Amino acid sequence: MTKQNKADNSTQSFINTVTESNATIDKGYYLRPQIKIPDHVTIIGGGIASACAAYALTKQGVNITLYCKDNEVAQGGSSNAIAALFPLLHQQKDEISDFYQQAFWRAKALYNEIEEQGYSFPHQWCGLLEVSYKESLIKRQIAFEKLKAWPDALIQSINADQASVFANINLPYGGLFMPNAGWVSPQDLVKQLFNAASATKRLTIITNTHISKIRQVKNTTITSNELSPISWCLSTNQGELNANVLVICAGADAIEIEQLKALPLTATRGQVTSMKSTNSISKLSTVICHKGYLTPENNGIHCVGATFQKNDTNLTTNSKDDQYNLTTLAKCLPELSADINWQEQDIVTSKARLRGMSQDHLPLVGAVPNINEHIKTYPHLAKDKNWKYSEAAPCVENLYVLLGLGARGLCSAPLAADILTADLCNLPYPVDHKMLFNLSPNRFIVRDIIKRKINV
Ligand SMILES: Cc1cc2nc3c(=O)[nH]c(=O)nc-3n(C[C@H](O)[C@H](O)[C@H](O)COP(=O)(O)OP(=O)(O)OC[C@H]3O[C@@H](n4cnc5c(N)ncnc54)[C@H](O)[C@@H]3O)c2cc1C
Repeated sequence: MTKQNKADNSTQSFINTVTESNATIDKGYYLRPQIKIPDHVTIIGGGIASACAAYALTKQGVNITLYCKDNEVAQGGSSNAIAALFPLLHQQKDEISDFYQQAFWRAKALYNEIEEQGYSFPHQWCGLLEVSYKESLIKRQIAFEKLKAWPDALIQSINADQASVFANINLPYGGLFMPNAGWVSPQDLVKQLFNAASATKRLTIITNTHISKIRQVKNTTITSNELSPISWCLSTNQGELNANVLVICAGADAIEIEQLKALPLTATRGQVTSMKSTNSISKLSTVICHKGYLTPENNGIHCVGATFQKNDTNLTTNSKDDQYNLTTLAKCLPELSADINWQEQDIVTSKARLRGMSQDHLPLVGAVPNINEHIKTYPHLAKDKNWKYSEAAPCVENLYVLLGLGARGLCSAPLAADILTADLCNLPYPVDHKMLFNLSPNRFIVRDIIKRKINV
């Protein structure tokens, strides 16, 4: 395997660093299944994950049918009025930050690409400031300064005066500023990505179709030149539907699907509050992140968010959570909050949705692992994690996921969709083997065998 050169941090534009797919390696579980390029793919979705996947796959000539349970697309996690687009970066380079910095540039490139094609959506690349409002964050900022792991185009340490200039309001704290980050309206972005994909005439979107179950079908009468004897039967409120290759981009709802229950995905509720703009905050010119976040004005509102409630799947909004969002702003930035002086009647609207979270803050993209076959195929990993295996990862045939986008779906979905497209269309991967494995849905079962969390 040629050693992969990671995306060049010194440049702002996305670089499609490519490896040979499935090169010879001694970690067989790194190997992704290769399938005959499908003519048609079925997607369950409607949010940013499926929009990026549909856009990337239709560009490769693949026909897509997408089923969405709602009466229109972008009604789930991707339906917020405003979302921040920024990478998750730690002070030191690590695997998580490495993924997010590459994903960030890829997301920017994709969103600019569709805008250049005439598919416009509200957004501003106005930068994002993580304010160092407490001692631990000041220490973190100092560590960023010392280590200088990232280029200034990605993140830079600034003082309170500089922060006040970038934000166009008085701030008592400095922080970490990401000059190329910003905000987008995810609902409009998702719709425009689907419009761009539909322009290829290869995308059919079918709404009001809730897939409650999927069942593998073994077709014994299939002819040799067809794709695969394995296909899928989808049980829906519209009757049974068929799919040859099925991709699940169902966000947090994916945890309901039986075949995915072994994947460590959870749902975390979030409520975000839209506040009426006032004279003292309308001039805000960058996204501010504290324990929560505050966005610049769009259509007369600012978004203040957001709650994080594990194991709560209630989509009804409540005033307690709006209060929490405003109180968090007041605790982290008391002077600014007092200056804005938002009252309950300034709440324009609030929204509660679910985030589909993975255990390790990275998305899951690729074929669904056959858990029992993994245990049978790689037993010696429990004794020696470096045991050399050439056997490729055993996966459920023709079943793929793009899930676990957590709280950064706007950043991670485009790169993850490129990886999915490389899986399905036999294209070179845009990331190296190590990163591919860190994103692969089988990483959890492999790690569990290595850590002897399961009996082999
Ligand atoms: C309060 C809050 C604030 C957030 N802020 C940010 C932010 O600032 N920046 C950021 O990057 N991210 C943010 N996120 C996270 C981001 O919204 C998600 O990562 C992203 O929307 C996930 O996209 P998705 O396509 O995976 O899922 P979703 O957008 O939830 O889409 C899932 C789709 O699948 C469909 N579906 C599900 N199950 C079925 C089924 N069985 N049959 C048919 N259709 C089905 C749904 O109808 C929906 O259309 C936030 C999330 C929340 C909740």
